[in-house]
Amino acid sequence: MYDVIVIGAGVSGSASARELSRYNLNTLVLERDEDVCCGTSKANSAIAHAGFDAEVGSLMAKLNVEGNLMMDELSKDLDFSFKRIGSLVVCMNERDRGALEDLMARGVANGVQDLRIVERKELEEMEPNISNEAVMALFAPTGGIVCPFDLNLAMAENAVDNGVKFQFDTQVTGFRKENDLWVVETNKGELTAKYIVNAAGVFADTLHNMVSENKMKITPRKGEYCLLDKTTGGFVNHTIFQLPDKMGKGVLVTPTVHGNTLVGPTSLDIEDKEATSTTQDGLDTVIAKSSRTVKNLPMRQVITSFSGLRAHEAGHEFIIGEVADAKNFIDCAGIESPGLTSAPAIGKMVAGIVAELANAELKSDFIGTRVGIIDPKKLTKAEQMALIQEKPAYGNIICRCEMVTEGEIIDAITRPLGAKSLDGVKRRTRSGMGRCQGGFCAPRVMEIISREKNMDIAEVTKSGGNSKLIVGVNKDTI
Ligand SMILES: Cc1cc2nc3c(=O)[nH]c(=O)nc-3n(C[C@H](O)[C@H](O)[C@H](O)COP(=O)(O)OP(=O)(O)OC[C@H]3O[C@@H](n4cnc5c(N)ncnc54)[C@H](O)[C@@H]3O)c2cc1C
Repeated sequence: MYDVIVIGAGVSGSASARELSRYNLNTLVLERDEDVCCGTSKANSAIAHAGFDAEVGSLMAKLNVEGNLMMDELSKDLDFSFKRIGSLVVCMNERDRGALEDLMARGVANGVQDLRIVERKELEEMEPNISNEAVMALFAPTGGIVCPFDLNLAMAENAVDNGVKFQFDTQVTGFRKENDLWVVETNKGELTAKYIVNAAGVFADTLHNMVSENKMKITPRKGEYCLLDKTTGGFVNHTIFQLPDKMGKGVLVTPTVHGNTLVGPTSLDIEDKEATSTTQDGLDTVIAKSSRTVKNLPMRQVITSFSGLRAHEAGHEFIIGEVADAKNFIDCAGIESPGLTSAPAIGKMVAGIVAELANAELKSDFIGTRVGIIDPKKLTKAEQMALIQEKPAYGNIICRCEMVTEGEIIDAITRPLGAKSLDGVKRRTRSGMGRCQGGFCAPRVMEIISREKNMDIAEVTKSGGNSKLIVGVNKDTI
């Protein structure tokens, strides 16, 4: 019996779990996938939006600005990558000056600091590769970039440090009320809790509709991307947006915290909530639209493409609160962009609602900090030598593209909520994220997972479930 069951281990569920762990509440997170950060939270633009885009007075605007402002301190406390590089919304036509000014006014009303319009000359100095047609831009110095995996994992790990339990491969299939308690039906049996937090991303409507007569509809809005090799690092210095339209913030070009260049996303409403494949059309659109704001984008340097699904609700607003006709059932739904930026503030809001309903008290022994996986590349030569002396695995490079050591991979597997699959290791260490996309390191990472988890190598998966990497013995059929 739990006080709270959070459904979904994406950034919203993990942020909520971390904030709930400040209270004397017994909390469990249920996730249908094999790991944290397997849904939309792993496939997005990774921008900490400044907050000028959301409608004035909306919850989305409030939590965006709050979440953005929390990032500096949180990234230090929880040891995840975040850089406040600033963003530019570029205008390609003098006719659009009014629209840009409106956007700035909206940002000011939302409480975004230091917004200003930069004209062509300054824009060119800030971004030498800006398109020749660019006339001006809205500059938001508070815009930033974050590692989405790191942010999600850091909050989840810190929640575990504070007593929260996570249960994976567990899909919630139904609810019933028994004696004022929620019985949660799953593919792994039943669990009971006083309070439910529904942070199920694109599936939040499915869960909501199981308990409420006021039906909700979440439309998956697909966004496709191209990721460019690190040789393109520095092609742009800020996140470069186009003027937003009714389908979203348009195709952006941005550096990532790890020094790649990210280009995308498209915006297309679809039906299938599992359809995260990329398409020729989508990638063609990304390439065509990105070249409007920057010139000579080195698209030959694409190393991978991916797509993510925004959890779009018709009102384009975060829906956070107790469901009117389902007591003690708290929705955290419609968390589309800027959900990643807002996550720290979303977590606080959700935990506040639950704590008030439960009359919960803050714990005195909450651990507010977490130490991430040591990255030897960030150490001095002397520190690297000392580390290798103490733990020789840090002297063994496994991923040559990203220079990831065996020591980091072992840490990723053995730490709380450790990686169980190739993708789990990849999200935690970047092994397999480089130019060869795991061509070289994948078999070696599989060996390390097999050894550390004491499992047959044939059982190691790409991403849990049936995603087996070894499907037969070589020359088996001869
Ligand atoms: C193309 C795109 C670009 C974006 N860019 C940005 C950006 O730059 N900045 C920004 O701030 N935001 C951005 N976002 C939005 C941001 O990524 C999301 O708002 C955020 O990741 C949502 O997190 P979540 O935890 O709510 O959902 P998810 O990460 O999807 O997590 C939900 C989890 O619930 C689990 N689940 C679902 N159903 C069940 C069930 N029945 N039982 C158990 N578990 C279940 C899923 O497996 C999943 O892990 C973008 C989104 C997209 C798609």
